Amino acid sequence: MSTQFGDRPMYIGGEFTASDSGEWMDSINPATGEVHGRVPAGTVSDVDRAVKAAAAAQIEWGAKSVWERGALLRKLADAMRSRAADVLPMESADTGNTIASLDNDITLACGYMNFVAGLGIEIKGESVPATAENIHFTMRQPYGVVGRIVPFNHPFLFAGAHLGAPLIAGNTVVLKSPDQSPLSATLMAEICHEVLPPGVVNIVSGEGLVVGDAIVRHPQVPRIGFTGSVPTGMAIQRSAAEVAVKHITLELGGKNPFIAFPDADPVAVAKAAVSGMNFNWSGQSCGSTSRLMLHESIYDEVVAMIEAEVSAIKVGNPLDKNSGMGPVNSAKHYKHVMGLIEAGKQEGARLLTGGSRPEGAEFERGYWVRPTVFADVTMDMKVGREEVFGPVLSILKWRTTDEAIEMANCIDMGLTAAIWTNDIKTAMDTARKVESGLVWINGTGRHYMGTGFAGWKNSGLGREECLEEVLSYTQSKSIHIIM
Ligand code: NAP
Repeated sequence: MSTQFGDRPMYIGGEFTASDSGEWMDSINPATGEVHGRVPAGTVSDVDRAVKAAAAAQIEWGAKSVWERGALLRKLADAMRSRAADVLPMESADTGNTIASLDNDITLACGYMNFVAGLGIEIKGESVPATAENIHFTMRQPYGVVGRIVPFNHPFLFAGAHLGAPLIAGNTVVLKSPDQSPLSATLMAEICHEVLPPGVVNIVSGEGLVVGDAIVRHPQVPRIGFTGSVPTGMAIQRSAAEVAVKHITLELGGKNPFIAFPDADPVAVAKAAVSGMNFNWSGQSCGSTSRLMLHESIYDEVVAMIEAEVSAIKVGNPLDKNSGMGPVNSAKHYKHVMGLIEAGKQEGARLLTGGSRPEGAEFERGYWVRPTVFADVTMDMKVGREEVFGPVLSILKWRTTDEAIEMANCIDMGLTAAIWTNDIKTAMDTARKVESGLVWINGTGRHYMGTGFAGWKNSGLGREECLEEVLSYTQSKSIHIIM
């Protein structure tokens, strides 16, 4: 069967290749439900091929200076930017993210690649005066082969940006693309092929339980960087522990609180609460502030403004520049999102807008959900506690600051939080008490390169988007020169 994007191979040892099994997997356009491309269904033996190619390439890659590796990463960033015209329509069609917002993913991926390209010289050790007569110091070395496993929501951004840290540290990489949106990783393979020596980056498509698990369990992969859901992160820790002591970083999910105090400007709060939901990605962003906690004194006013603003979001073809929101990413995810919406209705949350499929011929097929807002949510409801990872905003009411903090912290995730107040003492008091890895005061959504992005509690382990990420791809060694 011929499809829009055709059959797109994997990339192993500098070669574009099918799977050892000869099997292919469909990639579905979420706006129509139709197959628009295929990728190889990778196997355990494909992973083994990729790891062996990466291990062979690591010897020369690790022997290059940080300046040489940095220069190649900068070239990689330029090559990513130069393929934007190919990446954007493919990524938008494959994920459902609006094309108008996707260019920012390329800017972020290139910016982060350039940022880490300059951090090579910071991979330093220490000189320690442990004795008076001898010389004692530490040095950092790469692990060897790193496994990177990425989620469906921003596949090009996660594949592109997060190759940088392991590579600058002297590791080579085996990357697994997500099976719900695997296509743009195949363009990333072409970009790597233009710039990097064979085997430095290898990209394998296929199911998580097959390809992902094989990467995690492979004896020559001591270090794994994972971005995805909490249950998969926990499964990866379990699988890795069955075979070896592995070094794992996890960037996982969130149900992130946005706490608005009585002195906050209701108009600004309503605007930020809507933009913090990332409806342009159908809410499919780990950092979305999907639990809006309003003080009772501003509750009714803000709720009314949000209802009006969200009802006006234009849902439509994500490739249309005027579309404000596309479909959710897959049939599986549609079922999950609709299930939680139904739970919200049955648990007595007040549906302000959305809650169903949009009407009209263009929405009859595919995975469309109207932007949805529930008010009067409480923390015993599923829509209050569970990550929807979809276009569903839950609004809760609080009376005292202690109650707000208790509400924010009573779940087992802690990725981001937003605090809205003009009182610096209230802001800092709350920022200290809230159990999240990132806090915006009077802001939402934006990542600030260099400061780190990471979850507390079940939202993750290890920090990314900062020097700590680069250092986490090295292991330290103590050396003692006995004089
Ligand atoms: P997911 O289901 O956990 O999948 C993530 C990746 O793991 C996919 O490539 C998946 O492969 C693979 N996988 C599944 N089971 C595996 C296993 N047993 N061993 C190894 N790999 C396995 O997550 P998702 O649904 O794609 O993404 C949504 C989640 O990611 C949300 O929870 C969101 O909050 C989180 N997220 C977090 C961040 C962050 O920075 N904190 C950023 C983005 C997204 P298949 O695709 O083949 O199943």
